[in-house]
Amino acid sequence: MVWPNAFCVPARPPPPRICEAAINIPRQALVGFACYNIGVNPEETLKKRWGYDTFKPLQKEAIEAALSGRDCLVVLPTGGGKSLCYQMPAAMGRGLVLVVSPLIALMDDQVAAAREAGLAADALHSNLKVGPKREAYQNLANGTTELLYVSPERLLTGDLYELIAPRLILAAVDEAHCVSHWGHEFRPEYRRLTEALDLFPKAARMALTATATPIVQEDIRTQLALRDPEILIGHPDRPNLIYRAFPRRDQSKQVLEVVRRHPGEGGIVYAQTRKDVERLAASLKKEGVSSAPYHAGLNAEERRSAQDNFVNERLDVIVATIAFGMGIDRSNVRYVVHANTPRSVEHYQQESGRAGRDGLPADCTLLFSAADLATHRWMAKKDVTLSAERERALEKQLRDIGRYAVAPVCRHGQLASHFSAPYPVVPQAAEGCGACDVCLGETKGLSDEEALLTAKKVLSAAWRAEGRYGTGYVVNLLLGRINDRMTANGHDLLKVFGLLKEAGEPAVRSWIDQLIVQDYLEVTEDNEYPLLRITAEGKALCQDKGTVRLGLPVPPKAVKKKAKAFQKAEKAGVTFLEADKELFEKLRALRRSVADKKGIPPYVICHDTVLIEMAAAKPRSLEALRGMKGMGEKRIEKYGQLFLDVIAGGGF
Ligand code: ADP
Ligand code: ZN
Repeated sequence: MVWPNAFCVPARPPPPRICEAAINIPRQALVGFACYNIGVNPEETLKKRWGYDTFKPLQKEAIEAALSGRDCLVVLPTGGGKSLCYQMPAAMGRGLVLVVSPLIALMDDQVAAAREAGLAADALHSNLKVGPKREAYQNLANGTTELLYVSPERLLTGDLYELIAPRLILAAVDEAHCVSHWGHEFRPEYRRLTEALDLFPKAARMALTATATPIVQEDIRTQLALRDPEILIGHPDRPNLIYRAFPRRDQSKQVLEVVRRHPGEGGIVYAQTRKDVERLAASLKKEGVSSAPYHAGLNAEERRSAQDNFVNERLDVIVATIAFGMGIDRSNVRYVVHANTPRSVEHYQQESGRAGRDGLPADCTLLFSAADLATHRWMAKKDVTLSAERERALEKQLRDIGRYAVAPVCRHGQLASHFSAPYPVVPQAAEGCGACDVCLGETKGLSDEEALLTAKKVLSAAWRAEGRYGTGYVVNLLLGRINDRMTANGHDLLKVFGLLKEAGEPAVRSWIDQLIVQDYLEVTEDNEYPLLRITAEGKALCQDKGTVRLGLPVPPKAVKKKAKAFQKAEKAGVTFLEADKELFEKLRALRRSVADKKGIPPYVICHDTVLIEMAAAKPRSLEALRGMKGMGEKRIEKYGQLFLDVIAGGGF
């Protein structure tokens, strides 16, 4: 797959084929909804059902491909609006749309959300209770189902064929990267999906994923046997996410700083091990933060209740290992903190991507330490011997995420380039994303000369220590801290002793990390203690062979000015800062109470964006509500008056 051609533009217009499957719709299937839907175009349906005026990038192309019976592959980042691509053909009443999804835990919420938009949606999976299951079968038999979610296992049992085949126009495979060994969530049952899909040769296929690596895309095409598919690849950038990466100094303190910036808002803190999770969760609890831990060591009930409370907004912060996340669709997660370095850039993109699904600004902060990379290495090799190829892949992943975290280079730009996408997204856009620590001036890159000079100082200390000491010793050497060992070795007499005294410990530690990920230093574990050693590249750099990049967080005082300026810019572009915060909270409480009564998550009723707009615009009539983004007719019918009452000053 070549980026520039595929990027953001449909490869070519759909061929003038009419959907054969649609022609085969039995008469009875058209009764009831056909007159209401058929003939309505996608734009009208978008407004009517979802309350949106325009499509997000590539949605229309995907919908048109499906409606004309063409297979397609849709790669859009989280929050890019993938569900609408298959929900719209269902909403237009041309027949049945099947959605295969591995996330059973999410399915009921997805069905609820589709129903909120007025779709006749059902799900079939192993966790379904008897009542809803009977109803789903009844609806299928009556030919009234527009959208059916199934788990791969359920589809593969084969007994749905008779019910589905006559009306099926589209089979959508969500989380399609699960079909690939190269993806990060391979599922064997996905490999068998083609067997089932082949039973419906007339239905178009739509594969959807947020993973953009070319090798995974190729695998999806082959494994799902997509037939001359239209390839629709969106840009992976998430402009509403503000990425930051800082050296880790004091984990609990740095995490708390981020949490404190978001009182009462939803956030996820990712940590590396269960122990880290427990420790951080306890420290947040102690500070009075509404939070809970989540990791594989807790029992199923504890995990379920933490997840439910978080999704239903009874809990602000989840502190978790990566065991948490698949199946979290809460759209108003306002921040994700990585208290430890994630395993790869792909993992980072996915985990941080759980923030800001509603499109509003959200913070993603990564606290980096080179020690985390060693822990990942250790965890990967703990129980298995890795093949040489797997080991190389692991080392590359660790190096890439390390570089991402320490290079003083625009984070949005780095992520885009990791996924081979151009950045800035619009080539003529001004430099600097305005939404990362580097572009906001919170991390400063040293000039080339300064970086080289500093690197040489650090490297010569490591060279002098001859790989016989740990990082702490080299730090002390550079800071000129005398101790018995230092004097016994005569190292206090070296020229490098105290060479970086002025810089201070956090800077020196961070530079050492930065030199490790650039391969100028390495940590060896031949001994029972990790030892810091200069590499051949490091020695070459000392002789001016090679280039180096070093950066440093700017002291908070200097940052404040810039951050304020940014806030102002945010204010101009984003309505929620102007919104009546108190009214917003009241509307949020109303939404929570309605959701509780219905037993669905609050975000299914509507997103924060809708509440924010309401709080700012204070509509007084149903007519005024109708003009608001995200309020389709069904939602207005169900909740419009409740919202209006609260806006008018009433309770609920
Ligand atoms: P994905 O599955 O790609 O992560 P979703 O389908 O969950 O994304 O959609 C993300 C959000 O974008 C949802 O809140 C959805 O309602 C919203 N959305 C989808 N299409 C549009 C659109 N055309 N205009 C505005 N918002 C949209
Ligand atoms: Zn930037």
